[in-house]
Amino acid sequence: MAAAQQLSHVYPLGSRLNDSGRLEVGGCDTMELAREFGTPAFIVAEDDIRARARAFIAAFAARTDDFEVVFASKAFPCTAVYRLLFEEGIGCDVASGGELALALAGGVDPACIHFHGNAKHRDELAFAIAAGVGDVIVDNMRDLVLLEDLVPEGRRQRIFLRIAPGVSPETHPAISTGGPNTKFGFDLSHAPAAIERAQASDAVDVGGLHFHIGSQIMDIAPFRTALEALTGLGDFPAYNLGGGLGVAYRAHDDPPSIEDYVAAKVDAVDEIIGPGRRVIDEPGRALVANSCVTLYEVQSVKRNVDTYVAVDGGMSDNLRPMLYDARYDAQVADRFGGGTRCHVVGKHCESGDILVRDADLDDPRAGDIIVTPATGAYGHAMANTYNGALRPPVVFVKDGDARVVVRRETHEDLMARDV
Ligand code: PLP
Repeated sequence: MAAAQQLSHVYPLGSRLNDSGRLEVGGCDTMELAREFGTPAFIVAEDDIRARARAFIAAFAARTDDFEVVFASKAFPCTAVYRLLFEEGIGCDVASGGELALALAGGVDPACIHFHGNAKHRDELAFAIAAGVGDVIVDNMRDLVLLEDLVPEGRRQRIFLRIAPGVSPETHPAISTGGPNTKFGFDLSHAPAAIERAQASDAVDVGGLHFHIGSQIMDIAPFRTALEALTGLGDFPAYNLGGGLGVAYRAHDDPPSIEDYVAAKVDAVDEIIGPGRRVIDEPGRALVANSCVTLYEVQSVKRNVDTYVAVDGGMSDNLRPMLYDARYDAQVADRFGGGTRCHVVGKHCESGDILVRDADLDDPRAGDIIVTPATGAYGHAMANTYNGALRPPVVFVKDGDARVVVRRETHEDLMARDV
């Protein structure tokens, strides 16, 4: 019991340290999982994702009966995740033809798919229309031109117009997307002409307006400011306020709760636009980040000026530290705690391939299993084959059972496209 309390909230719900001091996720011993499935491996607690999905839906249902929660699937685009969330009543947004194909393969009803992109290819848009996606999020005038060309006679495609409200929340610049000089959406000066053009078109129905101001947002006030910026553009039946809720990557991180985030958004629409509007939300990382831990095996420990604990993965399974200087926690999976200050580093040929800086591990040695929590968002999504890395499997765990939902890549896979 005392051991269970040592686990911070960054681990999947229901995780614990068992009587032998080993981390258990979804009722499975992570040391056993590492032995059975190899390393590196993404271990995903199904119940964690379901609980967060239900929390989003309950938070909305408590405040309005006209809402839609949509998974921003770029965070974890794999068919098993699409399927699981759709079972919980959550459709998805996709940002490419590839994500659309995965969503359809995952059994998502096309009517519950929202098609995004700031550089939609004609073929992708044609695919989306043919698939019958519910909404196309129009990012620019070219989208409208293509829609008018592609939507079959007698049909109308429902669209939302993506507006950049000129608001920059406090987050990493690379994931701030609604500021005054962004590549996403119509800025406020061009939005009126786009709305007028769309409303006059026979090919589309304007469902409402959309904005997404950024990701990993810890202060929810800017959502209100962004909505206020849209008031001069007219009155619409629905507002899609994007995603953005930040998550805890490290034990001391304290993001807003799902309830507070949802309340802030629904109340803002109610108070600023008016009651009776449909509210759509697109959470990505808040649904999946904390559901997952990555398991690695230590390959070597090097004592230089600093101590480097080198594992069998790295920037090929977690790019975020290199892209955004993102910080994570790490532990030895069967010896939590400990005071050896070190850097957990990857196997790739880049000095910047550091997964966790300044970790405090218990006397790490070759052969140890290292766990990094909160890797469910943009881990699998951004995984790559740099240095011929074999992308890790995704293993779902629940009630003590484990099943592979994405297998590990093989050397044959690396050559599969060669002709
Ligand atoms: N909606 C759009 C249009 C996005 O681009 C993103 C992320 O980039 C999201 C929603 C989800 O953001 P988050 O994962 O921070 O919730």
